[in-house]
Amino acid sequence: MTQNNKLDFIDQIINERKSNNRYRTLKTTTPVSEVEVMISGKSMINFSSNDYLGLSKHPLLKQRSKDWIEQYGNGSTGSRLICGTFDCIDRLEKKLARLKLTESSLILNTGFQTNISIIPALADNNTLILSDELNHNSIIQGCILARCDKVAYRHNDIEHLKELLLNNQQKDYSRIIIISETVFSMDGDRCDLQALQQLSNQFNAILILDEAHATGVLGEKGMGLACKGSADIIIGTFGKACGSFGAYVACSAKIRNYLINYCTGFVFTTALPPAVLGAIDGALDLIPQLHVERQELHKKAEFLRQSLSKLGFDTGNSSTQIVPVILGDEVATIKAAQMLEASGILATAIRPPTVPLGQSRIRIALSSSHSWDQVKKLIILFEELRHENSTA
Ligand SMILES: *Cc1c(COP(=O)(O)O)cnc(C)c1O
Repeated sequence: MTQNNKLDFIDQIINERKSNNRYRTLKTTTPVSEVEVMISGKSMINFSSNDYLGLSKHPLLKQRSKDWIEQYGNGSTGSRLICGTFDCIDRLEKKLARLKLTESSLILNTGFQTNISIIPALADNNTLILSDELNHNSIIQGCILARCDKVAYRHNDIEHLKELLLNNQQKDYSRIIIISETVFSMDGDRCDLQALQQLSNQFNAILILDEAHATGVLGEKGMGLACKGSADIIIGTFGKACGSFGAYVACSAKIRNYLINYCTGFVFTTALPPAVLGAIDGALDLIPQLHVERQELHKKAEFLRQSLSKLGFDTGNSSTQIVPVILGDEVATIKAAQMLEASGILATAIRPPTVPLGQSRIRIALSSSHSWDQVKKLIILFEELRHENSTA
């Protein structure tokens, strides 16, 4: 080993990132309203938040948090299996199962933690995992930790998935697991739920669906696209449209019992605190009633997509509140985000490795709390961007 500083590797790697324009830093924000933040003293309209229904600021959630702090305290005092299963989390899991129309549910601490531990819990060394190539990083990490064979099938390509299932049917895998998101986080498109169900039935594969971006905004009562046991395991987060924090698994009682015993991300961690559980409870009471807000949200998304495509922008296959404006080139995308920022709009530039090379984009995330004027302002800025580029 050479005698240089033991942390020199960090400089090398970071410098490489910087020279690729991919170095990231944190941006400190002060929330002002459901859709506005202050950054360095400047007020910005936030088009990058996952707070799709503005619930992060909702008085009912705040009040329920305070009530549960008063009643149950600040901390949950232990892991779920030791003494952290307070009666309030028990009732919350039953409420959630009723809403998801599944036999049972289990609350975990984050969506990330759920995916990285549930996939290894369900797989053994002899399992084959088939995972959509655009699945979230937590699913990718979960597949790596599962230490078994895995193949990423082409995004939403049911024929490719079927081909992989046919090719592997005769091999002696102990089980096959299919994993997909129901709404994809970077593209705002949806999986083909029926086809996935049909294939998982036909090939006797375990189906896992991640409803992170669907929970709260799509499906019956806004409870997501995969209710009623349309998959063996349905995962979702409370950190997005639910305006709080935490995650869930909706499944059969049999799978729940298995996870309580074998999902390390459930077993070896402190249960969520009462304040967070209270906010989740409030969100679950509210969400089924928010039909008007959901309608508004989807109307605004449709209007945004149509306006952008009239301007010649590519919004991919988005059909949800997530609207990518795919610009392709990384530098052009960074410049576009900077131009928006200078005009008081916060919209995230998404670049490789988060998306494939040549697919850099501005990711617009709409909230029912955005006013029509704010959406129109965004469209006008994209129109200016179009003109700047065509005259350049
Ligand atoms: C955000 C997200 C997660 C992570 O959920 P957290 O609760 O924020 O950890 C998992 N899966 C998908 C698809 C996501 O978009």
